[in-house]
Amino acid sequence: MNLILLGAPGAGKGTQAERICEKLNIPAISTGNIIRESVKNGTEMGRRAKSFMDEGRLVPDEVVIGIIKERLAADDCANGFILDGFPRTIPQAQALDNMGVVIDRVVSIEVPDERIVARISGRRVCKDCGASYHIEYKKTAKDGVCDKCGGEVALRKDDAPGTVAERLNVHHEQTEPLKAYYEKSGKLYLVEGQEEIDDTTRLTFEALN
Ligand code: ADP
Ligand code: ZN
Repeated sequence: MNLILLGAPGAGKGTQAERICEKLNIPAISTGNIIRESVKNGTEMGRRAKSFMDEGRLVPDEVVIGIIKERLAADDCANGFILDGFPRTIPQAQALDNMGVVIDRVVSIEVPDERIVARISGRRVCKDCGASYHIEYKKTAKDGVCDKCGGEVALRKDDAPGTVAERLNVHHEQTEPLKAYYEKSGKLYLVEGQEEIDDTTRLTFEALN
């Protein structure tokens, strides 16, 4: 099954992507994680992407399209994949179509803006492996320490309140039109983001059945 998860920053796409990955045994692909990794490693692409990301703007389409093209060609995508954070613009969705990639379902996790800001301020990310946590909804076993690798868990630079406002604008202007794009082909399923992560997961799996 080839899936796309849509939703505002902080709506919980990443966590749901992980859970689908575990259950269906298909890879969860996060363009945000791939870009952060490149920034950390100081690659050419990372250097190009960093300023966009830090300011809460989208990295140019051709850069992320290149990332996805390469990633989807890997063997582990042969039986399906979950895209978390891609596409984020209409040209990115068209690029997927032009690659001949057939999407089976698009799940959009709906969370109102007022709740996004509060949720993101509690989000913490591992500086080493990129695992994502929340101080209230998805705690680490030990304060400030990653469960998976023992790395330091901290607020992401682009999760600062000023930048979140910009990311929300970008989401409404550039990413939300994708709902209409996938609605037309009957692939769109809306899931209301719940207070408890497990409740959202239940609704997400209902949308996939
Ligand atoms: P979130 O879902 O919380 O916004 P992500 O990790 O998905 O976080 O994305 C973080 C940042 O990475 C985005 O604000 C943007 O700068 C960049 N990015 C990730 N995916 C894309 C994409 N498909 N197109 C353009 N920029 C992207
Ligand atoms: Zn870690």
